[in-house]
Amino acid sequence: MARISLDHLAHAYKPDPQGPQDYALKEIDHVWEQGGAYALLGPSGCGKTTLLNIISGLVHPTRGRILFDDRDVTDLRTEERNIAQVFQFPVVYDTMTVRENLAFPLKNRNVPSSKIAPRVEEIARLLDLTPVLDRKASNLTADMKQKISLGRGLVRADVAAILFDEPLTVIDPHLKWQLRSTLKEIHRALDITMIYVTHDQTEALTFADKVVVMHDGAVVQTGTPEELFERPAHTFVGHFIGSPGMNILPCRLDGMTAYIGDDPVILQRTYPELASQRQVELGIRPEFVSVQRTGNGLPARLKRIDDIGRTRIARVEMAGRQLAASVPENFSLDGDEVSLIMDPHRIHIYADGHLLPGEPTTGGHQ
Ligand code: ADP
Ligand code: MG
Repeated sequence: MARISLDHLAHAYKPDPQGPQDYALKEIDHVWEQGGAYALLGPSGCGKTTLLNIISGLVHPTRGRILFDDRDVTDLRTEERNIAQVFQFPVVYDTMTVRENLAFPLKNRNVPSSKIAPRVEEIARLLDLTPVLDRKASNLTADMKQKISLGRGLVRADVAAILFDEPLTVIDPHLKWQLRSTLKEIHRALDITMIYVTHDQTEALTFADKVVVMHDGAVVQTGTPEELFERPAHTFVGHFIGSPGMNILPCRLDGMTAYIGDDPVILQRTYPELASQRQVELGIRPEFVSVQRTGNGLPARLKRIDDIGRTRIARVEMAGRQLAASVPENFSLDGDEVSLIMDPHRIHIYADGHLLPGEPTTGGHQ
Protein backbone atom coordinates (compact mmCIF):
# COMPACT_ATOMS: atom_id res chain seq x y z
CA MET A 1 0.00 0.00 0.00
CA ALA A 2 1.29 3.39 -0.83
CA ARG A 3 0.76 7.02 -1.46
CA ILE A 4 1.31 7.62 -5.17
CA SER A 5 2.90 10.90 -6.27
CA LEU A 6 3.17 12.16 -9.82
CA ASP A 7 6.03 14.61 -10.06
CA HIS A 8 6.13 16.89 -13.13
CA LEU A 9 4.77 14.04 -15.20
CA ALA A 10 4.11 14.49 -18.93
CA HIS A 11 3.74 12.17 -21.87
CA ALA A 12 3.89 12.45 -25.65
CA TYR A 13 3.41 9.40 -27.85
CA LYS A 14 5.35 11.27 -30.56
CA PRO A 15 9.10 10.70 -30.28
CA ASP A 16 10.07 14.36 -30.66
CA PRO A 17 7.35 16.54 -29.09
CA GLN A 18 7.52 20.23 -30.01
CA GLY A 19 4.70 22.05 -28.22
CA PRO A 20 1.81 21.33 -25.82
CA GLN A 21 -0.30 20.05 -28.74
CA ASP A 22 2.05 17.06 -29.06
CA TYR A 23 1.44 15.90 -25.49
CA ALA A 24 -1.33 13.38 -24.74
CA LEU A 25 -0.67 14.24 -21.10
CA LYS A 26 0.41 17.78 -20.25
CA GLU A 27 2.48 18.36 -17.13
CA ILE A 28 0.77 17.03 -14.03
CA ASP A 29 1.67 17.11 -10.34
CA HIS A 30 -0.67 15.11 -8.21
CA VAL A 31 -0.74 13.00 -5.05
CA TRP A 32 -3.08 10.02 -4.64
CA GLU A 33 -3.34 9.52 -0.90
CA GLN A 34 -3.12 6.00 0.51
CA GLY A 35 -6.57 4.46 0.86
CA GLY A 36 -8.39 7.10 -1.21
CA ALA A 37 -11.33 6.36 -3.52
CA TYR A 38 -10.62 8.45 -6.61
CA ALA A 39 -12.39 8.90 -9.88
CA LEU A 40 -10.52 10.12 -12.94
CA LEU A 41 -13.22 11.79 -15.00
CA GLY A 42 -13.07 13.28 -18.48
CA PRO A 43 -14.33 12.86 -22.04
CA SER A 44 -12.94 10.29 -24.43
CA GLY A 45 -9.42 11.10 -25.64
CA CYS A 46 -8.46 13.44 -22.77
CA GLY A 47 -5.63 11.18 -21.55
CA LYS A 48 -7.19 9.05 -18.78
CA THR A 49 -5.90 5.68 -20.01
CA THR A 50 -2.48 7.19 -20.71
CA LEU A 51 -2.27 8.40 -17.10
CA LEU A 52 -3.43 5.06 -15.71
CA ASN A 53 -0.94 3.13 -17.84
CA ILE A 54 1.88 5.37 -16.66
CA ILE A 55 0.96 4.65 -13.03
CA SER A 56 0.88 0.90 -13.66
CA GLY A 57 4.05 0.95 -15.77
CA LEU A 58 2.58 -0.08 -19.12
CA VAL A 59 3.66 3.30 -20.53
CA HIS A 60 6.95 5.03 -19.67
CA PRO A 61 6.46 8.81 -19.32
CA THR A 62 8.33 11.25 -21.54
CA ARG A 63 9.11 13.41 -18.53
CA GLY A 64 8.76 13.37 -14.75
CA ARG A 65 8.67 10.74 -12.02
CA ILE A 66 6.23 8.40 -10.25
CA LEU A 67 6.82 7.78 -6.54
CA PHE A 68 5.21 5.11 -4.35
CA ASP A 69 5.68 6.66 -0.93
CA ASP A 70 9.26 7.90 -1.26
CA ARG A 71 10.41 5.23 -3.70
CA ASP A 72 10.95 6.27 -7.33
CA VAL A 73 9.29 3.57 -9.46
CA THR A 74 9.47 5.40 -12.81
CA ASP A 75 11.82 2.82 -14.30
CA LEU A 76 10.28 -0.26 -12.68
CA ARG A 77 8.34 -2.78 -14.76
CA THR A 78 4.63 -3.36 -14.15
CA GLU A 79 5.24 -6.60 -12.22
CA GLU A 80 7.64 -4.83 -9.89
CA ARG A 81 5.11 -2.12 -9.00
CA ASN A 82 2.53 -4.22 -7.23
CA ILE A 83 -0.46 -2.63 -8.92
CA ALA A 84 -3.67 -4.36 -10.00
CA GLN A 85 -5.34 -3.06 -13.14
CA VAL A 86 -8.80 -3.84 -14.51
CA PHE A 87 -9.30 -2.95 -18.17
CA GLN A 88 -12.33 -1.88 -20.17
CA PHE A 89 -12.76 -5.32 -21.70
CA PRO A 90 -12.47 -8.66 -19.90
CA VAL A 91 -9.05 -10.25 -19.51
CA VAL A 92 -9.69 -13.87 -18.49
CA TYR A 93 -8.21 -17.26 -19.26
CA ASP A 94 -10.95 -19.06 -21.15
CA THR A 95 -9.58 -22.54 -20.52
CA MET A 96 -9.52 -22.06 -16.74
CA THR A 97 -12.46 -22.25 -14.38
CA VAL A 98 -13.68 -19.08 -12.67
CA ARG A 99 -12.01 -20.29 -9.45
CA GLU A 100 -8.68 -20.79 -11.21
CA ASN A 101 -8.95 -17.38 -12.85
CA LEU A 102 -9.52 -15.68 -9.50
CA ALA A 103 -6.72 -17.65 -7.85
CA PHE A 104 -4.23 -16.89 -10.62
CA PRO A 105 -2.84 -13.53 -9.37
CA LEU A 106 -2.28 -15.13 -5.93
CA LYS A 107 -0.69 -18.35 -7.26
CA ASN A 108 1.56 -16.21 -9.39
CA ARG A 109 2.85 -14.52 -6.26
CA ASN A 110 3.34 -17.85 -4.43
CA VAL A 111 0.63 -17.23 -1.88
CA PRO A 112 0.08 -20.55 0.02
CA SER A 113 -3.01 -22.42 -1.19
CA SER A 114 -4.47 -22.47 2.33
CA LYS A 115 -4.74 -18.67 2.02
CA ILE A 116 -5.85 -18.65 -1.61
CA ALA A 117 -9.00 -20.74 -1.18
CA PRO A 118 -10.79 -18.55 1.39
CA ARG A 119 -9.79 -15.36 -0.37
CA VAL A 120 -11.17 -16.61 -3.71
CA GLU A 121 -14.41 -17.62 -1.97
CA GLU A 122 -14.70 -14.19 -0.39
CA ILE A 123 -14.19 -12.27 -3.65
CA ALA A 124 -16.59 -14.61 -5.47
CA ARG A 125 -19.22 -13.90 -2.85
CA LEU A 126 -18.78 -10.12 -3.16
CA LEU A 127 -19.22 -10.31 -6.92
CA ASP A 128 -21.96 -12.96 -6.99
CA LEU A 129 -19.71 -15.42 -8.73
CA THR A 130 -20.11 -18.27 -6.22
CA PRO A 131 -22.59 -20.30 -8.33
CA VAL A 132 -20.23 -20.36 -11.31
CA LEU A 133 -16.91 -20.88 -9.50
CA ASP A 134 -16.32 -24.30 -11.07
CA ARG A 135 -17.45 -23.45 -14.56
CA LYS A 136 -15.07 -22.79 -17.42
CA ALA A 137 -14.79 -19.04 -18.12
CA SER A 138 -15.20 -19.62 -21.87
CA ASN A 139 -18.91 -20.36 -21.59
CA LEU A 140 -19.85 -17.25 -19.65
CA THR A 141 -21.39 -13.98 -20.84
CA ALA A 142 -19.38 -10.75 -21.30
CA ASP A 143 -20.92 -9.43 -18.05
CA MET A 144 -19.70 -12.45 -16.12
CA LYS A 145 -16.26 -12.35 -17.72
CA GLN A 146 -15.87 -8.71 -16.72
CA LYS A 147 -16.85 -9.62 -13.16
CA ILE A 148 -14.07 -12.19 -13.20
CA SER A 149 -11.69 -9.46 -14.39
CA LEU A 150 -12.83 -7.28 -11.51
CA GLY A 151 -12.31 -10.20 -9.14
CA ARG A 152 -8.78 -10.76 -10.44
CA GLY A 153 -8.09 -7.08 -9.78
CA LEU A 154 -9.52 -7.23 -6.26
CA VAL A 155 -8.19 -10.58 -5.08
CA ARG A 156 -4.77 -9.44 -3.89
CA ALA A 157 -5.04 -7.53 -0.64
CA ASP A 158 -1.39 -6.40 -0.69
CA VAL A 159 -1.39 -4.16 -3.77
CA ALA A 160 -0.27 -0.51 -3.75
CA ALA A 161 -3.41 0.46 -5.67
CA ILE A 162 -6.15 -0.91 -7.91
CA LEU A 163 -6.70 0.90 -11.19
CA PHE A 164 -10.02 0.50 -12.99
CA ASP A 165 -10.17 1.69 -16.61
CA GLU A 166 -13.86 2.19 -17.46
CA PRO A 167 -14.55 -1.30 -16.04
CA LEU A 168 -18.32 -1.25 -16.43
CA THR A 169 -18.42 -0.48 -20.17
CA VAL A 170 -19.53 -3.99 -21.16
CA ILE A 171 -21.78 -4.45 -18.14
CA ASP A 172 -25.54 -4.45 -18.54
CA PRO A 173 -27.07 -1.12 -17.30
CA HIS A 174 -29.13 -2.75 -14.53
CA LEU A 175 -26.03 -4.46 -13.14
CA LYS A 176 -23.95 -1.31 -13.31
CA TRP A 177 -25.26 0.47 -10.24
CA GLN A 178 -25.06 -2.74 -8.25
CA LEU A 179 -21.40 -3.33 -9.15
CA ARG A 180 -20.59 0.29 -8.47
CA SER A 181 -21.87 -0.02 -4.93
CA THR A 182 -20.07 -3.35 -4.56
CA LEU A 183 -16.80 -1.64 -5.50
CA LYS A 184 -17.51 1.11 -3.00
CA GLU A 185 -18.14 -1.46 -0.26
CA ILE A 186 -14.95 -3.30 -1.14
CA HIS A 187 -13.06 -0.03 -0.96
CA ARG A 188 -14.40 0.60 2.54
CA ALA A 189 -13.49 -2.91 3.66
CA LEU A 190 -9.98 -3.04 2.19
CA ASP A 191 -8.34 0.37 2.71
CA ILE A 192 -6.70 0.15 -0.72
CA THR A 193 -6.15 3.16 -2.96
CA MET A 194 -8.53 2.87 -5.89
CA ILE A 195 -8.47 4.97 -9.05
CA TYR A 196 -11.57 4.57 -11.15
CA VAL A 197 -11.50 5.96 -14.69
CA THR A 198 -14.75 6.96 -16.33
CA HIS A 199 -16.27 9.46 -18.74
CA ASP A 200 -19.59 9.20 -16.88
CA GLN A 201 -20.15 11.83 -14.16
CA THR A 202 -22.72 9.70 -12.32
CA GLU A 203 -20.25 6.83 -12.01
CA ALA A 204 -17.52 9.20 -10.86
CA LEU A 205 -19.63 11.07 -8.33
CA THR A 206 -21.14 7.94 -6.76
CA PHE A 207 -17.90 5.99 -6.48
CA ALA A 208 -15.35 8.60 -5.47
CA ASP A 209 -14.54 10.67 -2.42
CA LYS A 210 -12.26 12.77 -4.63
CA VAL A 211 -12.76 13.37 -8.33
CA VAL A 212 -9.90 14.34 -10.63
CA VAL A 213 -11.30 16.03 -13.73
CA MET A 214 -9.25 15.93 -16.93
CA HIS A 215 -9.67 17.97 -20.08
CA ASP A 216 -7.45 17.94 -23.13
CA GLY A 217 -4.51 16.17 -21.48
CA ALA A 218 -4.54 18.26 -18.29
CA VAL A 219 -6.04 17.98 -14.82
CA VAL A 220 -8.37 20.97 -14.49
CA GLN A 221 -9.67 20.33 -10.97
CA THR A 222 -9.42 17.87 -8.11
CA GLY A 223 -12.13 17.98 -5.48
CA THR A 224 -15.03 16.36 -3.71
CA PRO A 225 -18.26 16.03 -5.73
CA GLU A 226 -19.61 19.00 -3.71
CA GLU A 227 -16.60 21.18 -4.53
CA LEU A 228 -16.93 20.42 -8.24
CA PHE A 229 -20.57 21.40 -8.09
CA GLU A 230 -20.23 24.47 -5.86
CA ARG A 231 -17.02 25.95 -7.16
CA PRO A 232 -15.90 24.71 -10.57
CA ALA A 233 -12.29 25.83 -11.04
CA HIS A 234 -12.67 25.81 -14.82
CA THR A 235 -15.59 26.41 -17.17
CA PHE A 236 -15.04 22.89 -18.51
CA VAL A 237 -15.80 21.44 -15.05
CA GLY A 238 -18.87 23.66 -14.70
CA HIS A 239 -20.19 22.53 -18.02
CA PHE A 240 -19.20 18.83 -17.82
CA ILE A 241 -20.57 18.25 -14.32
CA GLY A 242 -24.26 18.76 -13.64
CA SER A 243 -27.30 17.92 -15.73
CA PRO A 244 -27.58 20.19 -17.45
CA GLY A 245 -24.20 21.82 -16.79
CA MET A 246 -23.43 25.35 -15.68
CA ASN A 247 -24.58 28.30 -17.80
CA ILE A 248 -21.47 30.04 -19.11
CA LEU A 249 -22.14 33.54 -20.43
CA PRO A 250 -19.65 35.97 -21.97
CA CYS A 251 -19.73 39.22 -20.02
CA ARG A 252 -17.99 42.52 -19.41
CA LEU A 253 -17.04 43.67 -15.92
CA ASP A 254 -17.34 47.17 -14.57
CA GLY A 255 -16.59 47.38 -10.85
CA MET A 256 -19.08 45.08 -9.12
CA THR A 257 -21.35 44.78 -12.12
CA ALA A 258 -21.16 42.19 -14.88
CA TYR A 259 -22.87 43.12 -18.14
CA ILE A 260 -24.36 40.33 -20.18
CA GLY A 261 -25.04 42.19 -23.38
CA ASP A 262 -26.49 45.42 -21.97
CA ASP A 263 -28.09 43.77 -18.95
CA PRO A 264 -26.42 44.37 -15.58
CA VAL A 265 -25.88 41.68 -12.93
CA ILE A 266 -24.71 42.86 -9.52
CA LEU A 267 -21.84 40.76 -8.12
CA GLN A 268 -20.68 40.06 -4.57
CA ARG A 269 -16.98 40.43 -5.27
CA THR A 270 -14.58 42.62 -7.24
CA TYR A 271 -11.99 41.34 -9.69
CA PRO A 272 -9.07 43.75 -9.66
CA GLU A 273 -6.67 41.06 -10.92
CA LEU A 274 -8.36 40.99 -14.31
CA ALA A 275 -6.26 41.92 -17.33
CA SER A 276 -8.45 43.60 -19.94
CA GLN A 277 -7.57 41.40 -22.90
CA ARG A 278 -8.77 38.18 -21.28
CA GLN A 279 -12.02 36.50 -22.22
CA VAL A 280 -14.38 37.00 -19.29
CA GLU A 281 -17.37 34.77 -18.60
CA LEU A 282 -20.01 34.53 -15.90
CA GLY A 283 -20.93 31.05 -14.70
CA ILE A 284 -24.10 30.11 -12.85
CA ARG A 285 -25.72 26.71 -12.43
CA PRO A 286 -29.36 26.22 -13.59
CA GLU A 287 -30.27 25.44 -9.96
CA PHE A 288 -29.48 29.04 -8.97
CA VAL A 289 -31.34 30.88 -11.71
CA SER A 290 -34.96 31.54 -10.94
CA VAL A 291 -37.52 32.25 -13.62
CA GLN A 292 -40.27 34.71 -12.71
CA ARG A 293 -43.29 36.01 -14.53
CA THR A 294 -42.56 39.64 -13.81
CA GLY A 295 -40.15 41.65 -11.76
CA ASN A 296 -37.00 43.65 -12.17
CA GLY A 297 -34.72 40.71 -13.00
CA LEU A 298 -33.01 40.16 -16.32
CA PRO A 299 -35.45 40.27 -19.23
CA ALA A 300 -35.56 36.93 -21.07
CA ARG A 301 -37.74 34.82 -23.31
CA LEU A 302 -38.94 31.35 -22.34
CA LYS A 303 -38.39 28.90 -25.21
CA ARG A 304 -39.56 25.62 -23.71
CA ILE A 305 -39.60 23.46 -20.60
CA ASP A 306 -37.88 20.05 -20.52
CA ASP A 307 -38.83 17.32 -18.12
CA ILE A 308 -35.62 15.50 -17.18
CA GLY A 309 -36.87 13.09 -14.55
CA ARG A 310 -36.39 14.49 -11.07
CA THR A 311 -36.48 18.17 -12.20
CA ARG A 312 -37.83 20.42 -14.88
CA ILE A 313 -35.56 22.71 -16.82
CA ALA A 314 -36.66 25.95 -18.45
CA ARG A 315 -34.75 26.87 -21.61
CA VAL A 316 -34.61 30.62 -21.91
CA GLU A 317 -32.97 33.15 -24.18
CA MET A 318 -31.35 36.23 -22.77
CA ALA A 319 -29.30 38.84 -24.64
CA GLY A 320 -29.04 36.42 -27.55
CA ARG A 321 -27.73 33.61 -25.30
CA GLN A 322 -29.34 30.30 -24.34
CA LEU A 323 -29.68 29.54 -20.61
CA ALA A 324 -31.03 26.70 -18.53
CA ALA A 325 -32.88 27.27 -15.26
CA SER A 326 -34.43 24.75 -12.86
CA VAL A 327 -38.12 25.41 -12.29
CA PRO A 328 -40.59 23.90 -9.83
CA GLU A 329 -42.83 20.97 -10.76
CA ASN A 330 -45.96 23.14 -10.99
CA PHE A 331 -44.30 25.93 -12.98
CA SER A 332 -46.50 27.42 -15.68
CA LEU A 333 -46.69 30.71 -17.54
CA ASP A 334 -48.89 32.57 -19.94
CA GLY A 335 -46.76 34.01 -22.68
CA ASP A 336 -42.99 33.82 -22.96
CA GLU A 337 -41.78 37.08 -21.41
CA VAL A 338 -39.92 36.25 -18.20
CA SER A 339 -37.62 37.83 -15.67
CA LEU A 340 -34.51 35.99 -14.44
CA ILE A 341 -33.00 36.30 -10.99
CA MET A 342 -29.47 34.97 -10.50
CA ASP A 343 -28.46 34.19 -6.92
CA PRO A 344 -25.45 36.56 -6.55
CA HIS A 345 -23.74 34.19 -4.09
CA ARG A 346 -23.72 31.44 -6.72
CA ILE A 347 -22.17 33.46 -9.53
CA HIS A 348 -18.59 32.71 -10.55
CA ILE A 349 -16.40 34.78 -12.83
CA TYR A 350 -13.93 33.09 -15.21
CA ALA A 351 -11.12 34.51 -17.29
CA ASP A 352 -9.91 32.40 -20.21
CA GLY A 353 -11.77 29.46 -18.66
CA HIS A 354 -10.18 29.73 -15.18
CA LEU A 355 -12.04 30.72 -12.03
CA LEU A 356 -11.11 34.11 -10.62
CA PRO A 357 -11.14 34.18 -6.82
CA GLY A 358 -12.05 37.87 -6.70
CA GLU A 359 -12.06 39.93 -3.53
CA PRO A 360 -14.90 40.34 -1.10
CA THR A 361 -16.09 43.90 -0.72
CA THR A 362 -15.61 45.44 2.70
CA GLY A 363 -18.51 46.43 4.86
CA GLY A 364 -21.17 45.72 2.29
CA HIS A 365 -21.03 49.28 0.87
CA GLN A 366 -20.49 50.02 -2.77
P1 ADP B 1 -8.85 8.42 -22.79
O1 ADP B 1 -8.51 7.18 -22.06
O2 ADP B 1 -9.16 9.58 -21.91
O3 ADP B 1 -9.93 8.21 -23.81
P2 ADP B 1 -6.22 8.13 -24.00
O4 ADP B 1 -5.23 8.22 -22.89
O5 ADP B 1 -6.53 6.77 -24.52
O6 ADP B 1 -7.55 8.92 -23.62
O7 ADP B 1 -5.69 8.99 -25.23
C1 ADP B 1 -5.21 10.32 -25.08
C2 ADP B 1 -4.66 10.79 -26.44
O8 ADP B 1 -3.50 10.03 -26.78
C3 ADP B 1 -5.63 10.62 -27.59
O9 ADP B 1 -5.49 11.70 -28.47
C4 ADP B 1 -5.18 9.32 -28.25
O10 ADP B 1 -5.49 9.32 -29.62
C5 ADP B 1 -3.67 9.35 -28.02
N1 ADP B 1 -3.12 8.00 -27.88
C6 ADP B 1 -3.51 7.05 -26.99
N2 ADP B 1 -2.77 5.93 -27.11
C7 ADP B 1 -1.88 6.17 -28.10
C8 ADP B 1 -0.83 5.41 -28.70
N3 ADP B 1 -0.54 4.17 -28.27
N4 ADP B 1 -0.12 6.00 -29.70
C9 ADP B 1 -0.40 7.26 -30.11
N5 ADP B 1 -1.36 8.03 -29.59
C10 ADP B 1 -2.10 7.51 -28.59
MG1 MG C 1 -9.41 5.27 -22.14
